[in-house]
Amino acid sequence: MSSSNSTLNITTDSKILRGGSIPTLISGPCSAESEEQMLQTARGLIQDHRVHIFRAGIWKPRTRPGLFEGVGRVGLEWLQTVKQETGLPTAVEVANTQHVEEALKHGVDILWVGARTTVNPFSVQEVADALRGVDIPVLVKNPVNPDIQLWLGALERLNQAGITDLGLIHRGFSTPNNKPYRNHPKWETIQQIRALAPGIPLFCDPSHIAGRRDLLETVSQQALHLGVDGLMIESHINPDVALSDASQQVTPDALTLLLNNLDLDHEHLASPEQLQDLRNLIDRLDHDLINVLFLRSDVSKRIGEYKRANALDIFQANRWKEIMEDRTRLASEIGVDEGFVRAIFDAIHQHSIGVQNGVLSEAPALKKSENSVEK
Ligand code: PEP
Ligand code: MN
Repeated sequence: MSSSNSTLNITTDSKILRGGSIPTLISGPCSAESEEQMLQTARGLIQDHRVHIFRAGIWKPRTRPGLFEGVGRVGLEWLQTVKQETGLPTAVEVANTQHVEEALKHGVDILWVGARTTVNPFSVQEVADALRGVDIPVLVKNPVNPDIQLWLGALERLNQAGITDLGLIHRGFSTPNNKPYRNHPKWETIQQIRALAPGIPLFCDPSHIAGRRDLLETVSQQALHLGVDGLMIESHINPDVALSDASQQVTPDALTLLLNNLDLDHEHLASPEQLQDLRNLIDRLDHDLINVLFLRSDVSKRIGEYKRANALDIFQANRWKEIMEDRTRLASEIGVDEGFVRAIFDAIHQHSIGVQNGVLSEAPALKKSENSVEK
């Protein structure tokens, strides 16, 4: 598929999805630790024919120094062995020019940009420059912070360097309260990124969202109901002794059990669970809307108090014209029906005038002369 779209100015030719009738499944350890660990994990994974791609972190971006920072280049040799023995295409995370060069030299099939790299346009540009002229699929994880533009920007930088086989990975966000997750899924982001980057395959990484094994199934199913094209799930032959992300990795056998419990049929649009998930999402979005309306109404009241104190008219035609122009421009930019937005803002404006009239009628403002009466 070759396409260009207006929301995101990029050209895609995505061949990254290998799942056919089921979502594309990427699995493998958080980190490559030893050749034996890699081979045993991969041998376990191919027992389940639903796994399409083998992943392993070779260079690990750890939050604190001194933790296990990955085995480096030797891990790429182990990946080659895994590929020779199992036939699984391989994927690694790259964060700089040296990583890209080493990965390409060792025949890695798919690269991904990690969440801590996507946050930094300098690093993303470095990776993009190192990939200029190379034809390889690249997956871009969302940045750690919930900034969709930064995520799209990374996609654009790679595309401008000539990469067209692109995909996105939703791995959750760091928010003030992530509970019960390690990284909050902010599920509404899936609809937003779908609207802004239509046609780009979207994966979900339930492992880094959940941070713990017992949440993996719920998170995976929710993502599938929201229509993701694939999942990236970390697996390890012996997760409890893993050198990174031990609490979220599963054995290949546990992965099979997990997959058995999921509704992997992405043609399966009419499942009651999917409807329920979508309804939950609507409930959350509506609650957000009401909270925002409360905040807006409160600000409007404060503006009313200012107008009262300064004897200003409540209705300011120029300001209202500006607001309507700005909001309808934004609506048309992001693809929301302009008439719909106009109607909503008419109602908001009416309400706002009501709130400000209420402020005026509460108590008469002191006139300047009354203020300065000498006692
Ligand atoms: C990983 O996939 O092991 C990883 C480091 O993920 P993220 O970039 O999402 O934190
Ligand atoms: Mn990990």
